[in-house]
Amino acid sequence: MADNGKELLDFSYSRMDMFRTCPMKYKFRYVDKMKELPKGFFFFGSAIHSALEFLYKGDSPVFPTVEQVCSAFMEFWLSRPLSQQGFRTAEEADRKRDEGIAMLKEYYRVNKDSFKRAFLTERMFRFEIDGLLVTAISDRIDYQGDGKILITDYKTGRDIRRTPDQLYMYQKVAECNPELPELIAERLGVHVPEIKISQMLYYHVPTNKKYYFDRAGDDQIKKFWDDALATAEEMRAGRFEPSPSESNCRWCDFKAYCPVYGGSGKAPAQDTDSSGAASGTEGTGPLFYGIRSAGEETAAERQNVSLLQLLNRCGDLEERKNVIDRELKILCGRIAELNLTAGEYNTGRYTASLGMKSSWKTDSRDAVISLLREYNLYDRACTLTMSGIVALLNSSDIPVDFREKMKKLLRREEQTTVTVKKNPPPM
Ligand code: SF4
Repeated sequence: MADNGKELLDFSYSRMDMFRTCPMKYKFRYVDKMKELPKGFFFFGSAIHSALEFLYKGDSPVFPTVEQVCSAFMEFWLSRPLSQQGFRTAEEADRKRDEGIAMLKEYYRVNKDSFKRAFLTERMFRFEIDGLLVTAISDRIDYQGDGKILITDYKTGRDIRRTPDQLYMYQKVAECNPELPELIAERLGVHVPEIKISQMLYYHVPTNKKYYFDRAGDDQIKKFWDDALATAEEMRAGRFEPSPSESNCRWCDFKAYCPVYGGSGKAPAQDTDSSGAASGTEGTGPLFYGIRSAGEETAAERQNVSLLQLLNRCGDLEERKNVIDRELKILCGRIAELNLTAGEYNTGRYTASLGMKSSWKTDSRDAVISLLREYNLYDRACTLTMSGIVALLNSSDIPVDFREKMKKLLRREEQTTVTVKKNPPPM
């Protein structure tokens, strides 16, 4: 419970960012504690962070060798099976693994002459500010004397884009952190009245470029924090309206439950982990379903959600199949216009067999049958087909004993057919 009598609210930059992007997505992720699918880029980033943590943590003046740093990376990589790494294919995973090793080797080469032990690495802080239970993770903190610190954030993605809010959040959390002065006193024997950020550094590992940012002014931080508190009030009030857009929804793992896409807005009841708590770091890693009250969702609702998921998948595949069939038909028509001779054509990627298939058609079915009968050739021309026999069984003028005997010779197999039609997009 916070000093103002309100419940403490779990808060972090990731949570705030997700709520501002789509409150409904935030609800699924952080209120309902639903899992997100593993993402390859998060896994890759975590593996690099883990190797850099191994490199810098500890007190020994001797740093690990580049081989040891790469082994730490591989140890992390192999700690999770391929199915949980989030890559689309084994080839993509292999490529990213090799890319990670090469990236670390280059990082080591560029920085080895200036290696310096960090004051803290990969440190998670969790403490209360203004009724919020704030969680923040720092990749690296260096103490620079006089209560000043440098915070480093290792970036492993394609670009270095960061919103000012992320910088402000780092600063607010670092300067309000009650643990930092204690840690400095404990480890360095220095008592500082307050902590101030000197600078923040974004280190782009793929290019080994450094981006320094100066400390923001107190007025900027106050404005940022007032806005953050307003967002927290919205979270508390449970205003979880969906905010659909192409960019928001494209990678959303909760579409099947989202009202915009025909879902109920409720999460399905799922297994909880033994603690019932979320695990992993904010915004990355595997996360677990939280506790739901018993009976909150009926079995029928669960079944309905799963049916919707299956039907949506059928619809998506049917749509793709139609597009592919249409394109194949057009391509076959264009190939036919080239008047090529039958045979095999090798494209390098494919070997295509070109042939000619012809079939007879008639627009005078009755006349054809009459002619066959006139020459007593009808029985010879009609081959045994199941649909012909079934039609015979359904005829009212056949002997009853024939129908019974024939039924004993046949087997009826049921196959569910599903026809899906695309709905118009939501307004
Ligand atoms: S599908 Fe779109 S609108 Fe629905 S929760 Fe996800 S991001 Fe929000």
